[in-house]
Amino acid sequence: MLMKKTSEIVIVFDFDSTIIEMDSDNWLLGEFGAIDKFYQLLPTTPWNPLMDRMMKELHSEGKTMDDIVEVLKQTPMHHRIAPAIEAAHALGCDLRILSDANMFFLETIVKHHGLDDYFSEIDANPSYVNEEGRLRISPYHNFVTSPHGCSLCPPNMCKGVVLERIQRSVGKEGKRIIYLGDGSNDYCPSLKLKESDYVMPRKNFTLFKLISENPSLVKAEIHGWSDGEELERVLLQIIDTICVEEKNNTTNPSKLIAADCKLGTINCST
Ligand SMILES: [Mg+2]
Ligand SMILES: [Zn+2]
Repeated sequence: MLMKKTSEIVIVFDFDSTIIEMDSDNWLLGEFGAIDKFYQLLPTTPWNPLMDRMMKELHSEGKTMDDIVEVLKQTPMHHRIAPAIEAAHALGCDLRILSDANMFFLETIVKHHGLDDYFSEIDANPSYVNEEGRLRISPYHNFVTSPHGCSLCPPNMCKGVVLERIQRSVGKEGKRIIYLGDGSNDYCPSLKLKESDYVMPRKNFTLFKLISENPSLVKAEIHGWSDGEELERVLLQIIDTICVEEKNNTTNPSKLIAADCKLGTINCST
């Protein structure tokens, strides 16, 4: 692995079934025996408001925020995920999380694993504990007053819209993006990545299947992974590849110009 640090890479992680092994809502509801009720109601209520309602039910059954935190701390995470995040951060990458989970669940789990200092930005559904001690969960986009208008994404969050904002904020600096995810809601942002970017879909999960149906729709380079160990290996390999490219670009600009001239894209005589 390279010793040199890079400031040229932004890594955007999905959370559910990417950083953690499963969906955080499913995990919590399963542990509290509320999963059957949730899936009975899901056909008639969108996920995000239904999760808010389920928190009301758990509260009325006497479940406290402390009970919820204890269950969240047990959420399964592959043992190589934290080392992968630490290594990418140590190499100078700018790490973000872009998740359709709620902020309270996500931050509780991230903090429990000591990873909260590694992320420069977390985008997730807003949540807060109200005066009754009950967790309230809201959609990321207000789909009544300002719908995002994307047909690929659930009404509460279009990850593509958020990714475009990240692209605008880092694009001027020519940074490259590595996007990791598993779900159908990771497809929209994957389509917005550029040729110089990378997408890491989890093998045999929905995002991987959607990309596999028509890989030419994705401009970014595609690298699958199946578990935390492979995620770590593939991610660090991509960072290494980008660092080597960067080094070659800065140490040998004449070679670059020569290559561009062959393609006739720039005028070397000026
Ligand atoms: Mg996910
Ligand atoms: Zn979208």
